[in-house]
Amino acid sequence: MKRIYLDHAAATPVNTRVLEAMLPYFSKQFHNPSATYLAGRQARKELEEIRHETAVAIGAKSAEVIFTAGATEANSLAIQGVMRQFPHAEALVSSIEHESVLEPARLFKHREIPVDDQGLIILNKLSDLINDKTVLVSVMLVNNELGTIQPLREISELVSEVRQARLGNGNNLPMLLHSDAAQAGNYLDLHVSRLGVDLMSLNAGKIYGPKQSGTLYVKAGVRLRPMVVGGGQEFGLRSGTENLAAAAGLATALQIAQRRRREESKKIMDLRSHFEELLKNMIPQAVINGSPTRRAPHILSVTIPGQDNERLMMQLDEAGIQCAVGSACSAARQEASHTLSAIGLSDETARSTLRFSLGRHLTKADIEKAATELSRLTASNR
Ligand code: PLP
Repeated sequence: MKRIYLDHAAATPVNTRVLEAMLPYFSKQFHNPSATYLAGRQARKELEEIRHETAVAIGAKSAEVIFTAGATEANSLAIQGVMRQFPHAEALVSSIEHESVLEPARLFKHREIPVDDQGLIILNKLSDLINDKTVLVSVMLVNNELGTIQPLREISELVSEVRQARLGNGNNLPMLLHSDAAQAGNYLDLHVSRLGVDLMSLNAGKIYGPKQSGTLYVKAGVRLRPMVVGGGQEFGLRSGTENLAAAAGLATALQIAQRRRREESKKIMDLRSHFEELLKNMIPQAVINGSPTRRAPHILSVTIPGQDNERLMMQLDEAGIQCAVGSACSAARQEASHTLSAIGLSDETARSTLRFSLGRHLTKADIEKAATELSRLTASNR
């Protein structure tokens, strides 16, 4: 049976060119970039080239790119790296952030920024929440359950206004904007100055690169307190022998993703529209969650009233269709998704919701098969 993979928001297969870029660092070019003999110096040179490529892909400078083991670590370094310096200050995080932002924020003073019923930040509410103690605002670029694209540019303007005002009123506290862009790389422009971010987390595992590989963009002048200390690698922000293979995988995946993002968006958007159209006809009671217009192409969150999402997901798996109940990371927990509850869904409705996330290798026929199976199972469960 051919398996149809509809969980690209959880993981993507590694692209062949990405794998090729990684392979030399497992064998011939295994040396430690801190070693001072020729092979070590060569490794250092290559690491810095990889860092430069990564930086260029997001419009940053090399010294602003910190390699991490994925977006969770990048998010933690961003949030904890800022908040540990200012224990009396406060962070504002959107209520639909990934756990890897929410959990570190919970270690400090923080409040959540509410979202509307489509999962979009309410700018007025954010503005009201900002006060003299706000040091960090963290809003993801693309939500992992709904696909909602946040108005980061507008948020950045708001943050800049506060920063300007502080110059005049003697408040020395920094005012920083962080964005978790882990779900955005295949489809959206990640140019850091166009987005207006001070800190941005990325991972390779969602953009056809390796897992446990990511980066934190740290704008020049932004100070962080490191979490992992030791040999002082990564500008002192993340000690440990550098993982050249992981970094090379990230750089190559990011370059390809950003180069292809327009055509990729079109292809995936066409497939998703087809899927939505089929669902509308085959399962008229199905409701699509999130914003109809401000939504990344790959994510489709569907509520089918009266259905148990865990059961349906397992039945779909048996039928060869792989999808998710909420996000993969929270699936092991019993609580209903915090994201779905933030947009106003009851626990019961949230438990009737599945997430389908599309990717590069899918065909129209795959989508049609998935819709047909979903419709068949939904009808037989009734
Ligand atoms: N942030 C978002 C929005 C995600 O979707 C994920 C992964 O699901 C992460 C962070 C965590 O990424 P990683 O698994 O690379 O740590």
